[in-house]
Amino acid sequence: MSGPDERPDSVSHSQSRLRPGTLAVTAGRPSPQPGAPVNVPVVLSSTYVGVPGSSPADLGPVYGRWSNDTWVAFEDVLGALEGGRALLFGSGMAAISGALSLVSPGGRVVLPRHPYSGTMGLVRALEQAGHLAATVVDIAETDGVVSALDDAVRTPGALGGSAALLWIETPTNPMLEVADLPALVKAAHARGALVVVDNTFATPLGLRPLDHRADVVVHSVTKYLCGHSDAVLGATVVRDARLHDRLLGHRTMHGAVAGPFEAFLALRGLRTLALRVERATANAAVLAARLAQHPAVERVRHPSLPADPGHARAAAQMAHFGAIVAVEVRGGAGAAEQVAAAVRLWVHATSLGGVESTLERRRRHAAEAPTVPENLIRLSVGIEDVEDLWADLAQALDGARPV
Ligand SMILES: *Cc1c(COP(=O)(O)O)cnc(C)c1O
Repeated sequence: MSGPDERPDSVSHSQSRLRPGTLAVTAGRPSPQPGAPVNVPVVLSSTYVGVPGSSPADLGPVYGRWSNDTWVAFEDVLGALEGGRALLFGSGMAAISGALSLVSPGGRVVLPRHPYSGTMGLVRALEQAGHLAATVVDIAETDGVVSALDDAVRTPGALGGSAALLWIETPTNPMLEVADLPALVKAAHARGALVVVDNTFATPLGLRPLDHRADVVVHSVTKYLCGHSDAVLGATVVRDARLHDRLLGHRTMHGAVAGPFEAFLALRGLRTLALRVERATANAAVLAARLAQHPAVERVRHPSLPADPGHARAAAQMAHFGAIVAVEVRGGAGAAEQVAAAVRLWVHATSLGGVESTLERRRRHAAEAPTVPENLIRLSVGIEDVEDLWADLAQALDGARPV
């Protein structure tokens, strides 16, 4: 691990002065020669013809688990948006597994009490297998995170490793707690810890963690980047060349690779990211404000609301407040289930980040954290007309209102 000042800004993207909404459209294209296709094709080949006498490393693609031109086009766009070098993985969890492989044996991971449930599951499994130790924190309480980092450095894990890794989600899933990213990165680096940010909720249009000197960004590309609920993919983005090589090595050796068709779907989705996120976040802010006034609602969590504990921080460090809203329904788990069953336009489904609006009561999953309220419904707000979304939610909530 290097200190913040040693980090090379290895990526100088020729298009880096363009704004994100433009980069999403223009990056990752074949060079515009007459007769060239506008889009990178779906390259369906497991192997490539070699050149006699030359080392494979000097050539383009060699083997389908090592590289693929359709992946590379997606990676170019995501890298341009995040300001780093991206790697496409077969799923968000594959990318998360790659990022966790950066922890030294016996090292300690400090992570939020409400991360994506799969992240917690994997960290716990790695802990049980003796690969690492974990400390769970409230990521919004900066002092608590800093003292956990102090302990992580002082009390290395069972195998005597000294490396520590701070895992950040902001806002968290599904509690929407907002971390003080600049303060946490500074504190972690001062203690020699790597910082990973799961940027799935914010997308690079809302937050660019590498600009705050975080070391690794991970994405569930399945969600907003792909945007159409039709593929499962993940990605990492870094600036440091050594971290890039380690993650690439992990992807290749663990075989955590994407199919070329899925890469194409993700690339196609990414082209409209700015439009989709603009519409979805605007819809979410309208719905959050109206939900907060509804008599069947106990509490709304969304950083756009001035009364939300994360509002000031999100306003300072994010370019939008996101399109995930959490609603606690009056009347407990039963009333929340009633709402989920009564919607007609909203889809009662897990996952998030698609063009269509979905919702679910998170605690219906056994793996969800017990500190997530039983009556909490997570809304993934899509790009439909907001009045139709509201009318459907309102009728479902009216029906669930306790008499
Ligand atoms: C869905 C999700 C993941 C896991 O990604 P997959 O693509 O399902 O493997 C990780 N982090 C967050 C925040 C998610 O929402």
